[in-house]
Amino acid sequence: MALSHSFPEKIRIFDTTLRDGEQTPGVSLTPENKLRIAKSLDELGVDVIEAGFAVVSDGEAKAIKLIAKEGLRAEVYSFARGVKEDIDAVLKSEAKGVHLCIPTSNLHLQHKLKKGKEEILRLTEECTQYTKDHGLIVELSAEDATRSDFNFLTKMFAAGISAGADRICPCDTVGVLTPEKTIELYSNLRKKFAKIPMSAHCHDDFGLGVANSIAALKSGADQVHATMNGLGERAGNAALEEIVVALKAVYNVDVSVKTELLYETSRLVARLTGIPVQPNKAIVGENAFVHESGMHTHGILAHPLTYEPISPELVGRTRRLVSGKHAGSSGIKASLKEIGLYPNDEQLKEIFLRVKTIGDKGKRVTDADLQAIAEAVMGLPKIRPLKLEGLTVVTGDNVTPTASVQLNINGKTLTEAATGVGPVDAAMNAIRKAVSAVEPIQLEKYSVKAITGGTDAVTEVAVSLRKGDRTATAMGVNEDIVRASVEAMLSGMNVLMTDYNKLNSKEES
Ligand code: MN
Repeated sequence: MALSHSFPEKIRIFDTTLRDGEQTPGVSLTPENKLRIAKSLDELGVDVIEAGFAVVSDGEAKAIKLIAKEGLRAEVYSFARGVKEDIDAVLKSEAKGVHLCIPTSNLHLQHKLKKGKEEILRLTEECTQYTKDHGLIVELSAEDATRSDFNFLTKMFAAGISAGADRICPCDTVGVLTPEKTIELYSNLRKKFAKIPMSAHCHDDFGLGVANSIAALKSGADQVHATMNGLGERAGNAALEEIVVALKAVYNVDVSVKTELLYETSRLVARLTGIPVQPNKAIVGENAFVHESGMHTHGILAHPLTYEPISPELVGRTRRLVSGKHAGSSGIKASLKEIGLYPNDEQLKEIFLRVKTIGDKGKRVTDADLQAIAEAVMGLPKIRPLKLEGLTVVTGDNVTPTASVQLNINGKTLTEAATGVGPVDAAMNAIRKAVSAVEPIQLEKYSVKAITGGTDAVTEVAVSLRKGDRTATAMGVNEDIVRASVEAMLSGMNVLMTDYNKLNSKEES
C-alpha cells in the first residue's frame, strides 16, 4: 500500500503549555495566570487548550474551571490518568474534553503501574466508556507508545475506539522517535484504523520534536500537541511556534494560527512561568532577527532575505542590527544615521576600530556606547537631552516601594513620583512617567547580572528601549542596583531622544 505523504486539509493545534508545559521543573502557575495564558492562546488561534490536570490540586481544578467558563473559542481539556477519581475531577471542572493517558509500554506497566496487559485493556475501555457516558470528548493517549509493542498498542487503541474514543495519540513520551520511525508508526496505525483522527505528542529529548510532529502530520495525524517556547519536562515538548511557522513558511501549509501574535504570546508565557527563552531559540529567541556580523548586516541592508528566512513581522517582531566586534562599517553607519550622525570615511574607520577594540575585550557594545564613541571621534559635544538631578527611593516592611525623581529634560526640570513592586520598579516607573510626558518611550527588555560574588557585587543592568520603530540598547554599571538601572534607562532614553539632524537644522536657522 502506498503511503500517503500529504498534509491533512485542516491541521489542528492542541496546546499543552498549561499542562505538559507547566510540568517543567520549577514552574507553577496560579489560576489567574493560567487564565491569562489561556486567553492569549485562544487569541492566537489554537484549537484545543489542555488547561491542566484536574485531580492534582484544588488550585489546578479551579484554574481549569475558570478557563472552561471563560467562553473561549478553543476547546478546553483536562488531563486524566486511567483512574475514575481523575475523570471525576475533570467532570467537576466543566472541561469539554479529557486527555486520557494510559501507558502501554512494558517498562511503564511493570515498573510504574504494576499492572498486566489485560488490565490495561479493561481500564482503557472502562475509562473511555465512563467519560463518554458523561458527554465529554475523549482524546485517548497511549503513554510511552513509541517504546511499546505495536500489537499491544493497537489492541489498546481498539479497546478505546470501541468504547467511543474520539481520537487516538501514540505519545512519544521520552522523545525517541525519528522522522522515519514516525512515518512508519503513523502509516501502520492508519492501516489498522482507517478513520479515527490521530494526534502526535512529541518530546524534544534529541531535538527532533518538531521534525517528528511534522512527519506525523504528513503520514496520518491531523493534530499536534505542542507548547509555547517548547516548555515541558526534561528537554521539553515540540515547540508550537516552530511547528506553526515551519508549516507556513517552509511547507507552505496553512495553519489557522495568527503567527503575528506568536512573539507576544511567547513573552507572556516566559514572564509568567519564569522560564526565559534561550537567545538563539528559533522564532522567539532574542537573537532570531538580530544581526551583528558585518557581512550579514551589509546583506540585510541591501535585501533582508539575504540573511533572514522569513520577515520578522510574520511572527510579530522587528529586525535589529547591533554593534559589536563582528560589526561591519555599513551596520555602524546605519545605526549612526538613526541618530543623525554622518561620519566621513576617516571617522567611520576610527569608530569601527574602537568598536572592535571594546568587543575584543569581551564587552558588549550598546547603542549608547556607539553614540559616545562617534561623538568623541567626530569631535561633537555630548548631547544628552535627559539628565538626572535627584533620586529618592523608599522601601521597607509595610511600605509600598516609592521613588521620586527630578529630571532635566531639554533644559526643563520635571519632578515625578511613582510606586512599584520593588525599589527598581518604582524608580523606573517614576522616570517613565516623567519622560512619557515628552517622549513615548517603552522599556522592552530589562536584564540584570551580578559581575562579582557578594552582596556588594557590581551589578550590570542592560535595557532595550523602543520609540516608534527605533530601538536603543544601553547599560548601567553600579554597586547599587537601583542606580545601575536608572543609569541604563537614562542612557538608552538619551539615545532615542538624540537627533543630530534636528540640532543641525536649528543651528543653521
Ligand atoms: Mn508529554
